[in-house]
Amino acid sequence: MPIDPRQPYDDDNIFARILRGEIPCNRVYEDDWALAFHDIRPQAPVHVLVIPKGRYVSWDDFTATAGDAEIGGFTRAVGNVTRQLGLDAPGYRLMVNMGGHGHQEVPHLHVHIFGGRQFLHMIVD
Ligand code: 5GP
Repeated sequence: MPIDPRQPYDDDNIFARILRGEIPCNRVYEDDWALAFHDIRPQAPVHVLVIPKGRYVSWDDFTATAGDAEIGGFTRAVGNVTRQLGLDAPGYRLMVNMGGHGHQEVPHLHVHIFGGRQFLHMIVD
């Protein structure tokens, strides 16, 4: 079920628990601003999630309320992850699902990185 993006931040959501180390993840990158790990149900040869360390429900929440340093740090981290994964030369796709129409399921902002194959169609429902 997609989340209501206006809901308050839930400290027990699955990604908050991964950030606290209560639930394991297959980590690929971490810095002061972000943690990146493999998606548990990959939808491409490479499917990695990048999440901010701060408590943000969604992309809307993050872009409305995060400070410039946090937005800059998180954005830089996404680029660092794609380069670390060697995706910068072949290319990749980024996706953020936001709220109901975006079919966002986890109420902690996450950027999907897809790579490892050629993508053709923008949206397939
Ligand atoms: P959304 O639809 O919210 O944009 O995507 C949530 C993503 O989180 C899905 O691709 C799903 O497979 C992934 N996911 C959900 N629970 C876990 C988990 O416990 N560990 C990991 N690594 N990924 C998860």
